[in-house]
Amino acid sequence: MATATQEETLGFQTEVKQLLHLMIHSLYSNREIFLRELISNAADACDKLRYEALDNDALYEDDSELRVEIEVDAEANSVTLRDTGIGMNRDEVIKNLGTIARSGTAEFLQQLSGEQQKDAKLIGQFGVGFYSGFIVADEVIVRTRRAGESSEAGVEWRSKGEGEFTIAEIERPVRGTEIVLHLKDDAKEFADDFRLKSLIRKYSDHIDVPVRMSKVESAKDDDGNPIEGSDVTTWETVNEATALWVRPKSDLSDDDYKAFYKHVAHDFSDPLTWSHNKVEGKLEYTSLLYVPGRAPFDLYERDGARGVKLYVQRVFIMDDAEQFLPLYLRFIKGVVDTKDLSLNVSRELLQQDPQVEKMKSALTKRSLDMLKKLAKDDAAYQTFWNTFGSVLKEGPAEDYANRDKIAGLLRFATTHTDSTTQDQSLAAYVERMQEGQQKIYYIVADSFNAAKNSPHLEIFRKKGIEVLLLSDRIDEWLMSHLTEFDSKAFVDVAKGELDLGEIEGEEEKKAQEETAKAKQDLLKRVKEALGEEVQEVKVTHRLTDSPACVVLPENEMGFQMRRIMEAAGQPLPEVKPILELNPEHALVGRLEGAEGEAFGDLARILLDQAIIAEGGHLDDPAAYVKRLNALLTA
Ligand code: ADP
Ligand code: MG
Repeated sequence: MATATQEETLGFQTEVKQLLHLMIHSLYSNREIFLRELISNAADACDKLRYEALDNDALYEDDSELRVEIEVDAEANSVTLRDTGIGMNRDEVIKNLGTIARSGTAEFLQQLSGEQQKDAKLIGQFGVGFYSGFIVADEVIVRTRRAGESSEAGVEWRSKGEGEFTIAEIERPVRGTEIVLHLKDDAKEFADDFRLKSLIRKYSDHIDVPVRMSKVESAKDDDGNPIEGSDVTTWETVNEATALWVRPKSDLSDDDYKAFYKHVAHDFSDPLTWSHNKVEGKLEYTSLLYVPGRAPFDLYERDGARGVKLYVQRVFIMDDAEQFLPLYLRFIKGVVDTKDLSLNVSRELLQQDPQVEKMKSALTKRSLDMLKKLAKDDAAYQTFWNTFGSVLKEGPAEDYANRDKIAGLLRFATTHTDSTTQDQSLAAYVERMQEGQQKIYYIVADSFNAAKNSPHLEIFRKKGIEVLLLSDRIDEWLMSHLTEFDSKAFVDVAKGELDLGEIEGEEEKKAQEETAKAKQDLLKRVKEALGEEVQEVKVTHRLTDSPACVVLPENEMGFQMRRIMEAAGQPLPEVKPILELNPEHALVGRLEGAEGEAFGDLARILLDQAIIAEGGHLDDPAAYVKRLNALLTA
């Protein structure tokens, strides 16, 4: 065996220590997945070698056969995995097996409470990866050499998973990586050929490199007894070893698809659904797209990993090829394998390639269709929506051409259920529309409760007209890109003139006009008292219980978006609201009877209250409190 020289001890990055701890404790009942993870890495390493060897055949050295070999040593209580993949040099070993490169990891781990740390589901947001070896092993030894480098360039990495690892130079004639797991006493069950074979078939059947296990056979004498010293080791391929996506759908079971998902998505929970398609004709490609069941922690990070795994004629080209799907579908995982790109295509070339653009548009449609199908299963779709809904809401702005399709996939909280769960489709809303109702009404606020209890909804509740209750940060942005659904226009109930169309009878309208006329004098006095604070003062027909509300002009940016932009430091032109008064309300009656300073104070209070009810901030809240107190003690 090679001798190690210049051994050096290094510490794991803090995040790795936390992750190791989390993993060992939370995945105890799921320990067997270590094998899948290590085989997945070995297969990735073979993929990378095949790719790099496209322009440098010498990387194969004198062994062009890509494979993974697994051996058990029951006496030593160890399992060894060997691959003939790309291998790693010293720097790569330190970086790949000592740190976690994903940005945002540290912040995410810090946020976890002790209780959450016991939750196996959280770990899935990272993908468990190489470190999963420590679930079953109390020591892991990695010996590796990068393809193409000399045999002196071997590296040995050792760790007991307790905060540090050692690294040393070794002599290693063969390229690729060997991982030795010294099994913990309570993990001896894995030092068993039969057990490992069944795990390989269960988890790694679809890996397109052969995964082999050794079999020792000895020659037999005439009586059928083994001849001493005649032992030969033969290798048996345990898995199917063909890329899953090239196999016909009819050959594949749900379990096959699920197992493959875990390899491509680096996830360890099941996907919600998938769509496997072979396209022939002008464009030729096979795609296998998945909707994950859970979000990665960096879904909203600008540089979070996204995109599909790209293959060209079965040769792996790159991970995270983000040019094949729009940003709002960044949660979709999977594989695209095509004949229409050259093997030496780069990220830069992908960006300009018109074929890629065509595939993107086809894959976008496929993904939306897959979601539409998923929507037939309420429970599964709700999981999808709760996990990725706010990402899909970016769709109408990014993908104008598909906005009708996307609108059909949206789910909302509405006054129909008054529940925070976003589970109502626009189609269901339209079905429930009242006789004569031509519009789809919605309200946007900073929180669900602010939306649900907004004074703007009073008239709608009275008339039994359903209103969508929007309170996600992205909602106003979303609605500014949706104009209609099923030929029904969207109307923000807090903006512009309230037009209930035919729902309001002629008589009602007449009565409103008359009240407005009768209150002309009051409206003028209020406008004078409030001056430039408001654009206009009107009689409302939105309110039944509240004395006043503020309304924005039709084309003005809404309150929610204003607050988001202001928080981001964007200077915005001032906007003056329209104040609407409810003449039926006692406070407005009182206002009518007031004079001088008292009149001005009360008018101010009504305006300030209306702003607060909208979730807005007062310029001078102390002054408001003072006026209100004066009124209460009067
Ligand atoms: P992931 O596979 O999601 O990248 P892992 O924790 O499984 O994360 O592996 C970390 C990295 O270590 C890999 O990205 C790869 O660069 C390297 N690595 C792990 N196993 C091997 C291997 N058998 N051969 C070459 N590189 C490997
Ligand atoms: Mg991995």
